Amino acid sequence: MRLLKTVMFEFEGSQYEIRIYNQAWDFKVKAYLNDSPANGYSYSATLPTAIDLNLALELDAIQYLVELAKHDIESKLWEKVESHIKNLNKGAAESLGCRKCGSRNIIVHLVDERDMFECQDCTNIWYAKRKTTRPHYCVLDDITEDVATQGSHEVDASVLLNVAFRPEAHKELSFEDQLKNWSIQNKLKYESFSRDGKEFIRFWR
Ligand SMILES: [Zn+2]
Repeated sequence: MRLLKTVMFEFEGSQYEIRIYNQAWDFKVKAYLNDSPANGYSYSATLPTAIDLNLALELDAIQYLVELAKHDIESKLWEKVESHIKNLNKGAAESLGCRKCGSRNIIVHLVDERDMFECQDCTNIWYAKRKTTRPHYCVLDDITEDVATQGSHEVDASVLLNVAFRPEAHKELSFEDQLKNWSIQNKLKYESFSRDGKEFIRFWR
């Protein structure tokens, strides 16, 4: 889904963002605070294809979802979920779970200075959110994120060579070796191909 519009909403001194996403006639609304989801709610609507998409944002049906998001922030209902979690008193490891299959059989690897989680039951892979980032991690995180959300990612080989896998950064390893090691660590497959006289690398899992 792509971000269509952000509505700012202030409550008790905090600036919330109510983000409206769509994929053609499917709409999703979610509240964010400091770039992270403000709660576990999301609101969705599937509009009839007869609707003119240019006018969809103005519809009461979509505005209603925004109002619901604001209302749920004001109601503080989600704080009850958070206090329930606190009372469970679980450690970080026993709180882990695979959102694809519900398994708690998760292995944690440290990759690119952040945790990578791997479900042992369905091979689902996901990552911890970074608190701070660096240019080469921006390039690499785009790859892992696109593979997770779109299934694959294509990147200009020269970007990887100049930003992520510079030979001088790891004197002992060639570009090819760094690319190979990184892909193995992240459990990714890759292939090189040319398009319009340029070299690209496609990643998938
Ligand atoms: Zn799983």
